[in-house]
Amino acid sequence: MTQVVEVKVPDIGDFKEVPVIEVLVEPGASVEKETSLITLETDKASIEVPSPHAGVIKDIKIKIGDKVSEGALILTLAVTEHPTDTKKSEKALEINQEGPVVPVEAPTSSLASAQSMSPGDIHAEVVVLGAGPGGYTAAFRAADLGKKVVLIERYPTLGGVCLNVGCIPSKALLHVAKVITDAEEAQAQGIVFGKPQVDINKLNTWKESVTGKLTKGLRALAKQRKIAIIHGTGKLATPHLIHVETSEGAKTVPFDNCIIAAGSSVTRIPGFPYDDPRLMDSTSALELNDVPQRMLVIGGGIIGLEMATVYDALGSKISVVEWMDQLIPGADADLVKPLYRRIKKRYEAIYLKTKVTRIETGKAGLTVTFEGDNAPKPQIYDRILMAVGRRPNGRAIGAEEIGIQINERGFIPVDRQMRTNLPHIFAIGDIASEPMLAHKATYEGKLAAEIIAGHKAGFDARTIPSVAYTDPEIAWMGLTEREAIQQGIDYEKTRFPWAASGRAISMARDEGLTQLLLDKKTRRILGAGITGVNAGELIAETVLALEMGADMQDISLTIHPHPTLSETALFAAEIAEGTITDLFIPKK
Ligand SMILES: Cc1cc2nc3c(=O)[nH]c(=O)nc-3n(C[C@H](O)[C@H](O)[C@H](O)COP(=O)(O)OP(=O)(O)OC[C@H]3O[C@@H](n4cnc5c(N)ncnc54)[C@H](O)[C@@H]3O)c2cc1C
Repeated sequence: MTQVVEVKVPDIGDFKEVPVIEVLVEPGASVEKETSLITLETDKASIEVPSPHAGVIKDIKIKIGDKVSEGALILTLAVTEHPTDTKKSEKALEINQEGPVVPVEAPTSSLASAQSMSPGDIHAEVVVLGAGPGGYTAAFRAADLGKKVVLIERYPTLGGVCLNVGCIPSKALLHVAKVITDAEEAQAQGIVFGKPQVDINKLNTWKESVTGKLTKGLRALAKQRKIAIIHGTGKLATPHLIHVETSEGAKTVPFDNCIIAAGSSVTRIPGFPYDDPRLMDSTSALELNDVPQRMLVIGGGIIGLEMATVYDALGSKISVVEWMDQLIPGADADLVKPLYRRIKKRYEAIYLKTKVTRIETGKAGLTVTFEGDNAPKPQIYDRILMAVGRRPNGRAIGAEEIGIQINERGFIPVDRQMRTNLPHIFAIGDIASEPMLAHKATYEGKLAAEIIAGHKAGFDARTIPSVAYTDPEIAWMGLTEREAIQQGIDYEKTRFPWAASGRAISMARDEGLTQLLLDKKTRRILGAGITGVNAGELIAETVLALEMGADMQDISLTIHPHPTLSETALFAAEIAEGTITDLFIPKK
């Protein structure tokens, strides 16, 4: 027997008299369970009201412009399943006769705001766990490709580590650091500024305005795409269900496909006094509560040295301790030398092949004991920044419990299409593999969304460039020289010193270098390394050259604007080609 049900506006939170902005169905139309019927527009979000049952629309009782509240009649529906037992809905009833009208409430599908989401399940064609650069990119791309997307994020803002406590706030502070050191160094050109007066509160307000602009922008972009956002901590409960603990209680998200983008966390060396706020990680260092007099940075990698650059410019006496025999161990040693030479003069100390074995708290500061080739006697610091790396969050999301493989380091292994061992579940960004970089996460996020949408694609980028936004910057891509040697590759190296660059000299920053690695036989670019002001911008040209399979002639015959730092790549290629005129290289 056919039953005709009344579909009414469900619980839409505190919203009342909400305008109907779209009626998405017509009388006579067949709808599936969850097909959107109407769209309501509150001042916070758009809410689509899905059909509670599969059936045929009979009468529509509202029109665009009507204002509705909970309980308002939307339409009547001749159901093709039992209206009061959705669990049995798969067993469609034999219906051939109309029965009485039964009132039911439609579930809401809140699109764009957790606040307006009614309790209960929200089915997702694609659920994305984590709204960092990987997650929000995946969610946006999946929505653009027509998928119904739910994005789950435990923190109140979108953007993950990168926008909130990583790439963006660090670059905002590094910008300020550069202004200070440029002003200091202008003395050599006869321009003398006074000692800078740093208003920490204003500086923090500005930094927060930068991240705020971007994170709010993301929310608007999600809303435009009608992505449902749930703020809460998500955990995989079954291979097709995520549980989310929110401030309003538990929610469940059944899904067809899942993209895990839950990122990474700060690594801690065990046994140190982390409850003392003077022992900072990158997040607390970015909060910039004050400018300590004497600061130790444990870890001479990119994050540690970027924060050292900031605190040095603001006036702290910096020491760096690094267990390896070079700073930024991932980069070729000759790229790091110009940075090392500069900061050796500015910083109090740089201890290589040395480690910290003990930190004791005291009134006077944190007393640090060192061990290693260059270990000094114990020292007292006002602050310590622990920057020894990040670890993936693979074990914190219930993945193993539902059968997803996790490796010994906590990463979730994926194939070229970002699929985990469960083919409908994908993993991207920091949680999937190194390098832990935002641009790798966004590339992978797009890829996973496209694969889910049925595109034929795979991870086929030839390189993921790395940049240390220190002063000078260090950037590299493709093969490093160390890797070329290890892999027995028949390569050639060509290097242009910035001491011969008109632009670098006119900026009083000629300590840099641009070097290219090329295949001896084909003359094609294999890798590049640049050290100097703006190296992070300059490396992009060489990435494109690698992706396009450019050889030295391609680069050397490409007209670059003069005078620019970008010419240094052209000059390096000209050296390889034997056509350079900006240097004299005697014939062998
Ligand atoms: C100080 C610093 C500076 C950096 N600078 C740069 C830089 O200049 N360039 C660069 O490329 N990279 C930089 N990085 C690295 C970059 O931030 C990361 O590689 C990038 O954010 C990774 O993106 P992701 O989407 O994989 O993960 P994340 O950005 O870590 O995002 C993961 C998100 O998932 C959420 N999440 C985790 N678990 C759950 C859960 N169970 N439920 C709900 N939500 C959850 C988290 O709250 C987070 O928002 C920097 C990092 C730091 C710390």
